[in-house]
Amino acid sequence: MPPRTASDPGPLALVVEDESGIADILVAYLQRDGMRTQRAVDGPSALRLFGQLRPDIVLLDIHLPGMDGVDVLKAIRSDSDTPVIMVTALADDVDKLLSLRMGADDYVVKPFSPAEVVARVRAVLRRTGARPAETRAAPIRVGRLVVDMEAHGASTVDDDGTLHPLPLTLTEFRLLACLASQPRRCFSRSHLIETCLPESDALDRVIDSHLSKLRRKLQDAGQEGLIETVRSIGYRLWPGP
Ligand code: CA
Repeated sequence: MPPRTASDPGPLALVVEDESGIADILVAYLQRDGMRTQRAVDGPSALRLFGQLRPDIVLLDIHLPGMDGVDVLKAIRSDSDTPVIMVTALADDVDKLLSLRMGADDYVVKPFSPAEVVARVRAVLRRTGARPAETRAAPIRVGRLVVDMEAHGASTVDDDGTLHPLPLTLTEFRLLACLASQPRRCFSRSHLIETCLPESDALDRVIDSHLSKLRRKLQDAGQEGLIETVRSIGYRLWPGP
């Protein structure tokens, strides 16, 4: 792990665990490895923090009070492909989850060694391509659109420089960031799937559906027509003449 700097705060892990002793240990080990952490003790607060913070990875206990971890995972997966590692006290749960094809990125069974969990977190972050700190870039500006790779967010900017954040899902953000990385270039649907939904076996129409939601949000922000469809090929960002 390279030393941290002010511009490299490290990946953010959301630790969802109702047993405070276990959460304490996980947080201590993750922080020692250079990660930032946030904690949640139940499903609803986990989802609220997930929406607010857009963490790089989630460590999710299955047996939580109120709403169990499987439902939390479902809710996370309904709008994002952020890596999730499920934590459980029962090996049987892993079989159940695998058979449900729930889309967790890895599984850890209690009792676990905290060092092993950190190694798994690192491996999942590498595999899922969470951008390493050293490749973080300055915000990209295309017309009135600002895409901030570091903050993982996009905004529109008005005449006096005020930023208006766009409420994007992670996949929508990735698509917009990809298109904005090279304005006017046409990206094929297969390229967008590979780049923006690498963990899924998504079809072209899944990309089309994400793109149409993204367009609607841009339209709501006064940016109609920013994304063009290139017939038979894919999409491009067209900032105008
Ligand atoms: Ca528990």
